[in-house]
Amino acid sequence: MEYNDKLARFRQGHLNPFNKAREEEPCENGERVPTKDSPPRSPPHPEPELRCTDRVMDLGVSEDHFSRPVGFFLASDIQQLRQAIEECKQVILELPEHSDQQKDAVVRLIHLRLKLQELKDPHEEEPNMRIILEHRFYKEKSKSVKQMCDKCSTFIWGLIQTWYTCTGCYYRCHSKCLNLITKPCVRSKVSHQAEYELTICPEAGLDSQDYRCAECRAPISLRTSSNEARQCDYTGQYYCGNCHWNDLAVIPARVIHNWDFEPRKVSRCSMRYLALMVNRPVLKLREINPLLFNYVEELVEIRKLRQDILLMKPYFITCKEAMEARLLLQLQDRQHFVENDDMYSLQDLLDVSSGRLGCSLTDIHTMFAKHIKLDCERCQAKGFVCELCKEGDILFPFDSHTSVCQECAAVFHRDCYYDNSTTCPRCMRLNLRKQAQELGE
Ligand SMILES: [Zn+2]
Ligand SMILES: [Zn+2]
Ligand SMILES: [Zn+2]
Ligand SMILES: [Zn+2]
Ligand SMILES: [Zn+2]
Ligand SMILES: [Zn+2]
Repeated sequence: MEYNDKLARFRQGHLNPFNKAREEEPCENGERVPTKDSPPRSPPHPEPELRCTDRVMDLGVSEDHFSRPVGFFLASDIQQLRQAIEECKQVILELPEHSDQQKDAVVRLIHLRLKLQELKDPHEEEPNMRIILEHRFYKEKSKSVKQMCDKCSTFIWGLIQTWYTCTGCYYRCHSKCLNLITKPCVRSKVSHQAEYELTICPEAGLDSQDYRCAECRAPISLRTSSNEARQCDYTGQYYCGNCHWNDLAVIPARVIHNWDFEPRKVSRCSMRYLALMVNRPVLKLREINPLLFNYVEELVEIRKLRQDILLMKPYFITCKEAMEARLLLQLQDRQHFVENDDMYSLQDLLDVSSGRLGCSLTDIHTMFAKHIKLDCERCQAKGFVCELCKEGDILFPFDSHTSVCQECAAVFHRDCYYDNSTTCPRCMRLNLRKQAQELGE
């Protein structure tokens, strides 16, 4: 067979390395075509120059891509590469048709050609950093190839393509796709206007979007599968397949209103936003849904622990030992727990529902109480004797059986100071002293 005929036949059947081997098909004249199950014809040259026996290339879809021998792929010189390409072409023609070796050789040829392209068209001039629509894109050094471009939704071939990642929102994309980006970085939204959409899937309908993707404005429709409209459960809007990859995320509105942690499908942009927001304490449960505390017992427990920790904080910031032991740093991942008792991050709520927050907060509470009540004399000295009964142990405001005067912060047994009608002896004493001072002047 002539070279060109062979080449044409080959191209017809095998150019796409992802194509499966064709199933057995009878020919018109009744003869059988060789199939993958029939023994392969031996190649005309049993020992071709470029051996393609091991399954080397898989287009970067598998992870151990670089642990395998790559042979000619490392050839760095253009001349050498051209030669390798010619040799590889020859090998493809000589190998048995439909064979795995031949398919591997085709993939190898594609790699060699891409590598040649890169050498002819180097990316060295591409800047290390670019700012586009508030994204801060840094050029990636990693050759890891199992990445998808957030703009064009195709693979990023780290070995031969330049790609960038935004340090703000982790948007990844090809350098060639940078200028096509239409959506500003969600990091700035997180920094300037950190607020969740708290209506469950606030849907307005495709017509309100002109039957276009909410992000890139590509036409979408509910009826065809080629440009199917995908709904984002967070925004309630519809997106095209490029802007919505059916990623799953826990939806804050569903957590707050229904205590529902089931992940739902969201757009890429919502996913990035939700990921950046997850540790931000922006949910004031007491205001958004105070009823939640009636239905979720764990939340009541957490609220009590948080209130106690705030009562312990003044001890620590005035105790040298506690400062040196960096006790408050136990809460450094949840800084807001040292500042208030009513703001929650979505991560807090996730951890409440898994039981993790209750456990870790109880441990921290125990450790803090141990320092104040047992280990540290300085802190112990700041305890209270109940001035109403003048009996019993030293009391601390975070003890469970105590009440605290809202005016002067004195601590009493709860049974002694049972309601606001009880007069606080300490306040009374302070008032008398003040009056005496005024009279003296
Ligand atoms: Zn791309
Ligand atoms: Zn960004
Ligand atoms: Zn789109
Ligand atoms: Zn102390
Ligand atoms: Zn008492
Ligand atoms: Zn008082």
